[in-house]
Amino acid sequence: MAKKQFKTESRRLLDLMANSIYTNTDIFVRELISNASDALDKKYYRSLTDTSINAEGLRIRIELDKKNRLFTISDNGIGMDEKELEQDLGTIARSGSFDFKQELEKDDKVDIIGQFGVGFYSSFMVADRIEVTSRKCGSEEAYRWVSVNADGYEIKKAERDVEGTTIVLHLKEDTKEKKYSPYLESDMIQSLVRKYSDYIRYPIVMDVEVTRSTGEEGKTVKEIETRTVNSMTPLWKKAAKEIKQEDYDQFYEENFYDYAKPLKTLHYKVEGNTSYTALLFIPEKAPYNYYTTDYKAGLKLYSRGVFIKDEASELISDYFRFVRGLIDSDDLNLNISREILQQDHQMQLLKRSIDKKVKNALEKMLEKERDKYEAFFDSFGTQLKYGAYEDYGANKDTLIDLILFRSTYEDKYVTLKEYVSRMKEDQKDIYYACGESAEKIKAMPQLEKILEKGYEVLYFTENVDEFMATVLMNYDGKNFRSVNKGDLDLESEEEKKEIAEESIDAKDLLTSLKEALNGEVSEVRISGRLKTHPVCLVSDDGLSLNMEKVLSEMNQGGMPKANRILELNKDHPLFASLKEAHEKGEDLSDYAKLLYDQALLIAGFPIEDPLEYSRRLSEIMIKAMH
Ligand code: ADP
Repeated sequence: MAKKQFKTESRRLLDLMANSIYTNTDIFVRELISNASDALDKKYYRSLTDTSINAEGLRIRIELDKKNRLFTISDNGIGMDEKELEQDLGTIARSGSFDFKQELEKDDKVDIIGQFGVGFYSSFMVADRIEVTSRKCGSEEAYRWVSVNADGYEIKKAERDVEGTTIVLHLKEDTKEKKYSPYLESDMIQSLVRKYSDYIRYPIVMDVEVTRSTGEEGKTVKEIETRTVNSMTPLWKKAAKEIKQEDYDQFYEENFYDYAKPLKTLHYKVEGNTSYTALLFIPEKAPYNYYTTDYKAGLKLYSRGVFIKDEASELISDYFRFVRGLIDSDDLNLNISREILQQDHQMQLLKRSIDKKVKNALEKMLEKERDKYEAFFDSFGTQLKYGAYEDYGANKDTLIDLILFRSTYEDKYVTLKEYVSRMKEDQKDIYYACGESAEKIKAMPQLEKILEKGYEVLYFTENVDEFMATVLMNYDGKNFRSVNKGDLDLESEEEKKEIAEESIDAKDLLTSLKEALNGEVSEVRISGRLKTHPVCLVSDDGLSLNMEKVLSEMNQGGMPKANRILELNKDHPLFASLKEAHEKGEDLSDYAKLLYDQALLIAGFPIEDPLEYSRRLSEIMIKAMH
């Protein structure tokens, strides 16, 4: 019989595949097992209505022959007749594989085969000769399909004792770039089976070499034993009430390489528009590389118990990227998954549903298990804040109630809801103060008046905090307001009048201090927020001092600077002395600089010239001691 050619479009995909060195070649094992499993399914279903079919002992067998470089997989499933061998294995541009092919041509470097699989043809990545011998269920005849280098194929009559299919791969010779010999190692194949096909419902058997003791002291023999290498029932397919937390913990530790138990396990099943089972874990601690690009987010994706893809980041929103686990969906069977997953409408529905479940679980934890939630927040709170900030706050409504802050109220974590619920009657805004730590913030002079009024102040100790507040703008109709920005409007009418009068009275003094500072500040003014401290540095309503600091740490050269304003406490004795010295016509420029440097230090900024600072201070000390 003449050699037949693959259809042209099949040909091109085969070329791409056979020559692709970018691809994860391991997946041919999964693809062949999945086909065998389908063939067993078909035979089983057939046997339900056709009593002449015996569907007992359905199994998949893998044999490795190192000497001849043969990888053989056989099943006792439905089998293929001559026509089916021709149709099913002779053409590739069926079902979704055509779209897939077009995608591949756009960028043949993408590891797309590894992600989606292209069934039987993936074997050409590792083998240069493939023989498929099959005997259709109910038939006495067997046929063999042979293709060398995917360069056409031949079909001949053959022999096979029982119904089913045997596929023999003649593995390619190893090259410098790529080794194929590992696919002849029993350990390697066993681990691939466990990784990709552990939960296939039929036994996958292999002859495994075992070392056994002979009973005599210290003596062992090597024996070949036939073993089932897959576990067959996935944990997530069992009913939740049959599973102990220890089982989940063990599964989590084995599959997600965490030394600690998960903080929370979510195991649920959804039926309806999208049907899927999820087994999700919220870790207790962030992995060491969590906030780096090394961290791989995403869930494992299974379809009907068959592993499709690791780290499927399209299954969950980025702000929940700490979630580990897997999804098993019946709706995405392997045949359909040839389409690009990202564009798959089904995937988007899945993502929406998963996000919602995670959010609900976190909310519930916050409400019912506050300690646990706070431990979670210690690990992943920064992630949630970035989530609320990113994309111009597109996800703020989803996340805002999951975010905690520490505050002047009891020094504990608070939610914004809690903050708002205990706001004072005359309080309009939500106050926050930025600083390195709670301790440093507590000591800030800017806080004095606010605390006196009994208002609660949130501690913003992380870089992202103020950026997030800026994007959020308000919560429950209350604006976020920094204690060291703009006008806090805390004073009574009486105090306002006093400040206005003093500002006029000391106008000259304030102007000369500003001039002495030579453009460092845009204004020197009388403060409404200080009580005992003499000075503080604030900014106007634009960029804050803290944001300026963060941006400059990120080395965003050319960033605009915060508009700095030096505020003086008119009730402090220092202010009276300044006025007096000014009236006497003394030169105030050293004092102005010292005041400014003090204010910088308190605000946590470096002073520009420490030597000058020290010189000025020494001089003043000398004067004072005379
Ligand atoms: P898919 O499995 O996605 O349809 P494949 O290229 O892997 O694509 O296989 C093509 C077809 O060949 C299968 O749909 C099936 O009909 C047939 N086939 C492959 N392997 C076997 C097998 N072990 N037993 C029976 N039929 C098979």
